[in-house]
Amino acid sequence: MIQNRDTIEQKQLGWVELITGCMFAGKTEEFIKRLRRHAFAKRNVIAFKPVIDTRYAVNEVASHAGTLLSSIPVNSTVELKEKLEAKILEKKVDVVGIDEIQFFDEAIVDYIEELADRGIIVIVTGLDKDFRSQPFKNVDRILPLAEMVDKLTAICQKCGNFANRTQRIIDGKPADWNSPLILVDGNDSYEARCRNCYQIEKG
Ligand SMILES: [Zn+2]
Repeated sequence: MIQNRDTIEQKQLGWVELITGCMFAGKTEEFIKRLRRHAFAKRNVIAFKPVIDTRYAVNEVASHAGTLLSSIPVNSTVELKEKLEAKILEKKVDVVGIDEIQFFDEAIVDYIEELADRGIIVIVTGLDKDFRSQPFKNVDRILPLAEMVDKLTAICQKCGNFANRTQRIIDGKPADWNSPLILVDGNDSYEARCRNCYQIEKG
């Protein structure tokens, strides 16, 4: 039976959109754009981001392109849930944005699913790979669950090819496979690289 528009509108919404790729691919710009479109449509939109090491400050509220969107910093899934559920009690929330899901604890995945099941549109971003080009946690599990997945590419900072890898550089050299994720003195940086220019020393 073909549903008419009225019956369709009575049904609840709810789905997950994942915006993924390497660093410098414009994930945050795309995230902000999508949230803004819902805000223009008078939907209640709320956004969260993880509180992370200051070295990642380039990826906070301001994206690389400088568009601003107020988003609430949280330390964990529990804290995000507390703040969001309080907001939901206050008023209906239609759209939830969560930036950088790879930096959350693993409970975020089940909560994202729960929100979508409750009729909320959840738009998330996350790196698909770490500096070793291995799948990043949370993003690897959201990928099969999301209704929509967009994988964005960057431009290789060495040769101009399409880049889908994040090159980590420590003290001016490509990072070693075994280098710790967090450096105490923090002298590391990142570049978008293509498959030909990406370098990793396997120890
Ligand atoms: Zn290249």
